[in-house]
Amino acid sequence: METIEADVVIVGGGPAGCSCALYTSRAELKTVILDKNPDVGALAITHQIANYPGVPTDMSGEALLKLMRDQSIQYGTDYRRAQVFGVDVSGDWKMVYTPEGTFKARALVLATGAMGRPASFKGEADFLGRGVSYCATCDAAFYKGSEVAVVGVNKEAVEEAQVLTKFASTVHWITSNDPKADDAHSQDLINQPNVKHWSRTRLLEIKGNEGGVTGVDLKPRGEENGRSLPVEGVFVYMTGSKPITDFLGEQVAFKEDGGVVVDDFMSTTSEGVWAIGDIRNTPFKQAVVAASDGCIAAMAIDRYINSRKSIRVDWVHS
Ligand SMILES: Cc1cc2nc3c(=O)[nH]c(=O)nc-3n(C[C@H](O)[C@H](O)[C@H](O)COP(=O)(O)OP(=O)(O)OC[C@H]3O[C@@H](n4cnc5c(N)ncnc54)[C@H](O)[C@@H]3O)c2cc1C
Repeated sequence: METIEADVVIVGGGPAGCSCALYTSRAELKTVILDKNPDVGALAITHQIANYPGVPTDMSGEALLKLMRDQSIQYGTDYRRAQVFGVDVSGDWKMVYTPEGTFKARALVLATGAMGRPASFKGEADFLGRGVSYCATCDAAFYKGSEVAVVGVNKEAVEEAQVLTKFASTVHWITSNDPKADDAHSQDLINQPNVKHWSRTRLLEIKGNEGGVTGVDLKPRGEENGRSLPVEGVFVYMTGSKPITDFLGEQVAFKEDGGVVVDDFMSTTSEGVWAIGDIRNTPFKQAVVAASDGCIAAMAIDRYINSRKSIRVDWVHS
């Protein structure tokens, strides 16, 4: 797979990431946004946003986000849908890994928001990476011909379950509520021949052994006894309010509350890496605050990249 080079790679296409991209693109820096899904971030799911300065008060978060995204694209941002599963920030080039390819950047911006959650189902943490996954786009091909479970009812769960239908023999879709009857994507998923929908059902436990996941225990509402399903993979799509940092490992410093530590310029403890928006776990999580963070980081990045351009490395002599 090809490696794509850029001045700035921004992970996350919410208001923080799009604002940052707008400024870096206008500063003539080659900018790539890698966004897992434009429909699942905090602004994307906000029904109405009445307090973002300058836009009509009945605007939806989704519509505002589209305006922001389109504006950054208009100025040259390369917006791509891709879920980042790892980074390596140890060298001058910051490496960013996705199922769609590898990206390398002189400046890396972390803008994945705070819609994450700790692993909370019994067995989830034990089997993470050994059958439990949060990324079907990354891992679906490992489950060719196997039975898998998808847990969650949001848009991301539906889209990722659709990806799995192309590989798995059966996709067990477990939802604690019924999806909306007028949600065409959910209904389309339910109608796939290899999807078994477990509506109004709770996931009780993910089971396994040294080899990884071997099954799940469920409790359908109204049934007296639970059930066990022999699945090899469990894909969990539940949201919470924890900064999404699982793809970072220990490569930047975190606060006790899980937010990424930054200075006044949104610079993290790792040189060449910035963090903006809800990933910082700011006390006031607002779209305008996230956008402001993006602007600050972009200006700092412009200064950083330009100052490095003028530095001559000592092994070049002329
Ligand atoms: C229900 C709700 C209502 C709200 N109402 C308001 C309001 O009325 N006014 C207001 O100002 N604020 C409101 N907020 C807060 C506001 O939406 C957030 O503060 C703001 O969206 C944070 O922006 P962000 O860019 O940091 O993160 P987000 O908007 O969450 O965007 C993060 C992006 O990162 C992507 N991403 C995540 N992980 C990865 C990965 N591994 N790889 C690639 N991409 C990834 C996501 O798909 C998403 O697109 C509300 C929030 C919620 C949840």
